[in-house]
Amino acid sequence: MPPTILLVEDDRPIADNVILALAREGMGCRHVSLAAEGLAQVRAGGVDLAILDVGLPDGNGFDLCRAIRVFSDVPVIFLTARSDEIDRVVGLEIGADDYVLKPFSPRELAARVKTILRRARPGQSGVSDVKCGANQTRFFLQVDEDRAKIFCRGVALDLSRSEYLMLKALAARPEKVFSRAELMDAAGLAEASLERTVDSHIKSLRAKLAALAPEADPIRTHRGLGYSLARDPA
Ligand code: CA
Repeated sequence: MPPTILLVEDDRPIADNVILALAREGMGCRHVSLAAEGLAQVRAGGVDLAILDVGLPDGNGFDLCRAIRVFSDVPVIFLTARSDEIDRVVGLEIGADDYVLKPFSPRELAARVKTILRRARPGQSGVSDVKCGANQTRFFLQVDEDRAKIFCRGVALDLSRSEYLMLKALAARPEKVFSRAELMDAAGLAEASLERTVDSHIKSLRAKLAALAPEADPIRTHRGLGYSLARDPA
C-alpha cells in the first residue's frame, strides 16, 4: 500500500507543488490548511508521516506537533520560512524528525519523506524502532543493525562501539533492568573491566541523548542493580 502523507500547509501554491512531488514518488497526500484539521486527520488514523507548516492561520506547527505527540509517534517534518526557527526544530525539543527551510525543492522534500519512511517502517532490513521516553516526552530510537547506528529523532548518534552495543541492548528490552555485568557483557568488555567503565559509558550515552532530546533522559539508574531504558512517559 502506498504511504499516506498528511500535509498541513495554508499556502496553496506550495501545497500543490508538494502534492505533485509526492505523487511522482508514488505517495498519496491528504492536504489540509488548518492546524485543527491536521490534528483531526492524525487522530483519524492512516497517516504515515506528517508535513507541518510552522505558520498556520489557526496556530503554529510546533504546538500542533506537541498535540500530536501526546498520542502519536507519526514522523513529522516541518516546513519553515524562518531560519531562526530552525534552532527549535533542530534541537528537536518538539519531537520532529526533520525540517525543510522555505523556499525548498518539492523533489528534495519528497526524497526526505522517503528516507524517513524507510527508517520508520518496521520489519525492514535490520532496522527496529524503539519507543522510549520519560518526563512526559516520548520519542523513537531507531536501531539500524545493518549500519551499526542508532538514530534519535532522525539524527544518528555519534557512539563509540561500546556505547552502541550498550544502548542497543537497553533498547532491545525497554524497562528491563540490566546489571552492570550484563551491560559489560553486551558491550563485549572484558570481565576485568571495572564496573565504573559501564557507568562512564552510560554517562556519555546520557549526554549524547540529551543533546538531541534534552527533556527526555530515558536511561534510568536503579541503585545497586543497574540501568534500564524507559519505554514511555511516566
Ligand atoms: Ca503558512
